[in-house]
Amino acid sequence: MGSTERIRNVAKRVAKWARAGHQMVVVPSAMSGETNRLLGLAKELAPSKQTTDYERELDMLASTGEQASSALLAIALQAEGLQSVSYAGWQVPIRTDSAYTKARIESIDDLRVRADLDAGKVVIVTGFQGADAMGNITTLGRGGSDTSAVAVAAAMKAQECLIYTDVDGVYTTDPRVVPQARRLHTVSFEEMLEMASMGSKVLQIRSVEFAGKYRVPLRVLSSFTPWDIDIDVEARSGTLITFEEDEHMEQAVVSGIAFNRDEAKISVLGVPDKPGIAYQILGAIAQANIDVDVIIQNLSKDGKTDFSFTVNRGDFAKAMDLLRSNVLPSLGAQDVVGDTKICKVSIVGIGMRSHVGIASKMFGVLSEEGINIQMISTSEIKTSVVIDEKYMELAVRALHKAFDLDQPAA
Ligand code: ASP
Ligand code: MG
Repeated sequence: MGSTERIRNVAKRVAKWARAGHQMVVVPSAMSGETNRLLGLAKELAPSKQTTDYERELDMLASTGEQASSALLAIALQAEGLQSVSYAGWQVPIRTDSAYTKARIESIDDLRVRADLDAGKVVIVTGFQGADAMGNITTLGRGGSDTSAVAVAAAMKAQECLIYTDVDGVYTTDPRVVPQARRLHTVSFEEMLEMASMGSKVLQIRSVEFAGKYRVPLRVLSSFTPWDIDIDVEARSGTLITFEEDEHMEQAVVSGIAFNRDEAKISVLGVPDKPGIAYQILGAIAQANIDVDVIIQNLSKDGKTDFSFTVNRGDFAKAMDLLRSNVLPSLGAQDVVGDTKICKVSIVGIGMRSHVGIASKMFGVLSEEGINIQMISTSEIKTSVVIDEKYMELAVRALHKAFDLDQPAA
């Protein structure tokens, strides 16, 4: 929602659904650019401080973006002739833990919202925010209004949760990298989870986890279609994220190619190969609240081995410092080296469960392109490789083609 014109558009769309007989709870996010603008103001006023020093106030601040759009949407709906009321998170209430800037929803009380729905109102619940047990306002992390929407849908036992966004669905890969990428009509919840954690930015990953846990059918669709398109067409548009057993999946072995440029590789070299080294290295990293993703340990030679793993790029410097200052000396390792110019490319598909040779096909495609694989990790439904960042687009395009995901030529 970038402007009052866009808000009016949303109101007309919501009114269309409401007039077709649906009870509607709407969870708006902030007007576009607003969250960044607010966070920028804070930085301007405290240039010498870490944002972690004033997280509580950041949440007070950032949560206002959503609050404004919620009230504006309720006003626009009333102007459309509907009854509508907006609530801040604490008024519902949406109860969260106290982890400012990345709080988790603990419970949502549905009483107030249900009473309004039964009274014929469209209810607006402010996205991205909640309140902890002390009444402090919290936010759910960037992109968190997706999670708010799914959580509210779960609490209300909604028929479906529609996420209107700036893309018209989930694609086989990012169309900016592969113009032939196709929109998927359905994708399984597990695949979506892999794609979201693998860097597809369509939905906040926590919202996908939530949808899976509470079995909320989720549809991603475009907020840019005209508000007055046929409601049945709209109801079938976008991508439906479904549960494996109740769907007609497009029968592809690989459903999508995901990639992630946000990781960095760290290698601890010349570690004495004895029990407990993984624990010593990764335990220290975990204690510093740093997530580790792909891990490999080399064969040992002369009683020494190399141990490598990836972390989020934002945590790279912190992890390197920690290893250099604490872990390296006590471990008796020779050196620790890092590489931020890597990326992770993954093939994802529930069809991989029942087909052999998919991973090796992937390695074959990469080798034909002359791309060296630095690390590999697999799960039942995905295979990921870590490669040099400069080959990312080449790898994604080649894999997209090799696994028959390119759009058929028109
Ligand atoms: N406004 C918040 C953000 O930009 C939440 C959201 O849009 O989902 O991260
Ligand atoms: Mg968003």
